[in-house]
This record gives sequence, C-alpha cells and structure tokens, in this order.
Amino acid sequence: AKGDVSRSICFYEPSMDDFVRTRRKLAAELREALEKGQLDLHYQVQTSVLTGEIRGYEALVRWRHPVRGLVPPSDFIPIAEESGLILPIGEWVLRTACATAATWSPPYKIAVNLSPIQFGTAGLPDLIRRTLRETGLDAERLELELTESTIFVDRERSLHMLREIKRLGVSIALDDFGTGYSSLDILRSFPFDKIKLDRSFMREVEDSPTARAIIRAILALGSSLKIPVLAEGIETDAQLALLRAEGCDEAQGYLLGRPAPLDSIVSGGQITLMP
Ligand code: C2E
Ligand code: CA
Ligand code: CA
Ligand code: CA
Repeated sequence: AKGDVSRSICFYEPSMDDFVRTRRKLAAELREALEKGQLDLHYQVQTSVLTGEIRGYEALVRWRHPVRGLVPPSDFIPIAEESGLILPIGEWVLRTACATAATWSPPYKIAVNLSPIQFGTAGLPDLIRRTLRETGLDAERLELELTESTIFVDRERSLHMLREIKRLGVSIALDDFGTGYSSLDILRSFPFDKIKLDRSFMREVEDSPTARAIIRAILALGSSLKIPVLAEGIETDAQLALLRAEGCDEAQGYLLGRPAPLDSIVSGGQITLMP
C-alpha cells in the first residue's frame, strides 16, 4: 500500500498542494459530519433467489453534505481510512445498523461492511460484543462483510480475528468475491459463512458464455464447500433467471431494491418497526 501512496503522490505532483489541501479539508468536514449527525445509512435488500423472500439488508453509509448533497462512500471512505476517522465512523455505522435492525419485524439479518483498518484493531471483538449487548440485537442477525484485501494485511492475525468474531455468533461474508488475486486460497484457509459474488460478473452474463461458465463454477464451488453464494449487482430479470437456473442462493441489486433510507423501506411495507 505504501508503494501506491508514493505513486499517487508523483501522479498528482503538479497540483499536489491542492490535492493535499482538498483531502485535509474533506477530512475536517468529515469529522464535523460525524459530530453533527450528517452521516446516514441506506439499506439494500438481500433476497432468496428461489423464493424471492427477504433475507436481510446491507447497511451502506452516506454523507448528507450541506453543499455537495448526498456523497457516496467511494468519495469519502478512502479519506476516512487515511485520516483514521474510519474508526469512529465504523463504530457509528455498526451501532446504528444494529440498533435499527433490533427494531425490525420480521427479524431480518443486517450486513455491515468492515474496513481493513477496523479489522486490524485488537478491540474489534469487544466492540462488537458491546454493541450487540447495548442494542439488544441477537448475534445471529449480524453479518460482517470483509473483502479479500482485508484478510491479506496479516493472514495469521486475520484468522485469529475471524474465529474470535465468529465465536460471538456473528457471521462473516466474503465481499467482492472473484476480484482479488487469490480468492480460492482465501476460501480454503478462512471460515466464511457466505460468498458475495462481485457484480462485475453480472455485467457480462447475458452475452458472454465465459462469464456464465465462471459463475457456474463459483456456484459449484460454494455448494461443495457448503458456503451459500449471494450474487451482487442484479439489474435484470434475465440475470435473476439465470441465477435461479444455476442454483444461486441469494441476490442483491437494483432489480430487487436500491439502497434506500429506512423510512422508505418502512413505508414501502417491507419492514415493520416494533413498538
Ligand atoms: P459494496 O460493499 O460492494 O456495496 C455494494 C455497492 O454496490 C453499493 O454501492 C451499492 O449501492 C451498489 N449496488 C447495489 N446493487 C447494485 C446494482 O444492481 N448495480 C450497480 N451498478 N450497483 C449496485 P455504495 O453504496 O456506493 O457503496 C460502495 C462501497 O463503499 C461498498 O461496496 C463498500 O465497499 C463501501 N461502503 C459502503 N458503506 C460502508 C460502510 O459503512 N463501511 C465501510 N467500511 N465501507 C462501506
Ligand atoms: Ca458489502
Ligand atoms: Ca460487494
Ligand atoms: Ca466493493
């Protein structure tokens, strides 16, 4: 990662002052956003491919910027990670997602994304335990989503951390599967409860036999390892039909529901809040 940083600094050299100044300004604004309650969670439904039943929701963070409007996570998570703000932000996300899901009926699962930096802090299992206790959410309802790069920071530590988190009763999904360098090695060595097939595979599926063959192979892999597979980025009926034919377990994507604020999910009738 160090190498990448120096390369990007070279790349930005002509306007480096501006670059650094903008990042610093954004980091300061982001700290303020957290304090002023400008962060928000949107929820995106995850459904059973076979029956269409709702299985759970993924929490996706948003920044309601007073001037810029709704800022997507791709624009501020990197800054949060660079500045260390990802720790308080991640804590806020976890707490808010758990507290919200604890009020849902039926008791759907809630999936929360973890940054590599959060995963690298020794206090994470304690934070999760405390958050579950304080929000009253059952551990089985929480699923944490990690990417392959998170695991690779320190494999031995990661394995230890994964086991400790799983011991709390929380499940762990491998996010963006198929985009990393050694997806198979990761599956062989780490006890994941779910594979989330990256949405880049879905894009080509309708006209590429190769993409379909790869998806079929990944589903077969999941099935022989007894790890359910969720396909991300489902946008068309044809994609969903193909997944059904191939025996994929769960799906997520704009076709099934866009990420939306809690209010609109509740008013849409998908979730009832407990009194
Ligand atoms: P991700 O975890 O892979 O989340 C899925 C992303 O795909 C979301 O983008 C979602 O809006 C988008 N998406 C869902 N269905 C479709 C579809 O059918 N088509 C297309 N084109 N896109 C779809 P979003 O919300 O902008 O989040 C981007 C990334 O930011 C996430 O990717 C995740 O890596 C990160 N992120 C989001 N929330 C958090 C968070 O609370 N903590 C951390 N550490 N990272 C987060
Ligand atoms: Ca995710
Ligand atoms: Ca993903
Ligand atoms: Ca991603």
